[in-house]
Amino acid sequence: MLEIDQSAGLARIQAGAQGPGLEEQLNSQGWTMGHQPDSFKHSTLGGWIATRSSGMQSDKYGDIADITRGMRVTLPGKVVTLRPRPSYSSGPSVREMILGSEGRLGVITEAWVNVHRLP
Ligand SMILES: Cc1cc2nc3c(=O)[nH]c(=O)nc-3n(C[C@H](O)[C@H](O)[C@H](O)COP(=O)(O)OP(=O)(O)OC[C@H]3O[C@@H](n4cnc5c(N)ncnc54)[C@H](O)[C@@H]3O)c2cc1C
Repeated sequence: MLEIDQSAGLARIQAGAQGPGLEEQLNSQGWTMGHQPDSFKHSTLGGWIATRSSGMQSDKYGDIADITRGMRVTLPGKVVTLRPRPSYSSGPSVREMILGSEGRLGVITEAWVNVHRLP
């Protein structure tokens, strides 16, 4: 985890982070991302985004498509940064194109995700 924006409830996390390490770092500061796919122990934030993953707490926290607000993606020849805006009024959405793209468009290296105070 690189940083937390406490007022916005957003964390910037490197895409190679696996579930347990990611939650440990968030929990140590009183936060959770709340994304718990059955593959949680062995899969990564980047993999969850690339496969448009859903978890067992998605009813409360949303699927990864809801949780992921911004991204940094390395494409052939350039790096694209999608800033974590609360809402969008323009389209088509590049964020939506990356979510579930299975790595075909580029490599996700970082993401801004929604985080919540631990209950
Ligand atoms: C036992 C088991 C339980 C599972 N449970 C669930 C579940 O509850 N919910 C669910 O949604 N899925 C589940 N899955 C499916 C899988 O775990 C998820 O799709 C997970 O999101 C894959 O993440 P990964 O890091 O393992 O990615 P990988 O399997 O390594 O990669 C999956 C795809 O994403 C691409 N990719 C990975 N990282 C990146 C990146 N940084 N940038 C761009 N592309 C990338 C790869 O190229 C590949 O196409 C489960 C799988 C198993 C084996």
